[in-house]
Amino acid sequence: MERFRLMRNIVTCNKCGDTIESKYISDCVRCKCGAIGTNGGTEYQRLVGEKGDICLKKSIYKDAKRGTLITHKELGKLKKNTKELMDSFGVMSVGNGFIDCICSKDEIIRFSDALSKIDIEVTHFTLWEVVEKLDDKPKAGMGGPKNRFAEGWYAELNCNNFEYRGIENLLEIVNQYELEFGCVVAPGLWLDI
Ligand SMILES: [Zn+2]
Repeated sequence: MERFRLMRNIVTCNKCGDTIESKYISDCVRCKCGAIGTNGGTEYQRLVGEKGDICLKKSIYKDAKRGTLITHKELGKLKKNTKELMDSFGVMSVGNGFIDCICSKDEIIRFSDALSKIDIEVTHFTLWEVVEKLDDKPKAGMGGPKNRFAEGWYAELNCNNFEYRGIENLLEIVNQYELEFGCVVAPGLWLDI
């Protein structure tokens, strides 16, 4: 489920100051000076122009969890807070977003508490083998990223994605797979943001 859904596809041009809105799927609009444009209505936001010329702060999203509207700026702040929280717990995402946010088993309870305090939910998780040193080979995992916060790296374990059913259930699964694979396992959380 996507928590934040685009409701108003509104973009402002930083060059000419014009504010435009794409209202339906093939409503391709351009600003007065032509530097920027947007398309897709509320289905998707297809932006045209240089990144520095585009201002998204007037776009509006619906927060499915709270049933309220949220501006692009507020959503940006929530993402920034989440990133800062991840950094403070040494949690790294495998990509750029909020999927596969790998957290050590020792920090997982405190991190999940901190997430719920800022109203962010975990939807799913994957499992990763903690490899202590960069040159070490994983016992059970496959490829994976370097740990940004410590020595070593994370090797993806060959198992399904799990639906998140609370922290106790997650720890049970992590412990079970540590026994099965004979390695240290860290969960990669999928955050609903
Ligand atoms: Zn313009």
